[in-house]
Amino acid sequence: MIMKLLLIIGVISFVYFFFIKKKPAIETKESPKTKKKEKLQGTDMIECPSCGIFFEVDDGILSGNTYYCSSECVSKAHL
Ligand SMILES: [Zn+2]
Repeated sequence: MIMKLLLIIGVISFVYFFFIKKKPAIETKESPKTKKKEKLQGTDMIECPSCGIFFEVDDGILSGNTYYCSSECVSKAHL
């Protein structure tokens, strides 16, 4: 009986540690995802630094690290 009890406790603790060890591994995998969320998404509205118009990132033009609403504003910003 005692051997059976120890076996059951062993199995329970094995499963317990197995799940506890798995959880932080999942959290570390999720942290790069949350970092990605901080970056601009295609549907995010941002302001054009050249003319002040708000537009979706997908519609904008990336010049350096800045998004502009149109190629005209890109050329204006570089003048
Ligand atoms: Zn603009």
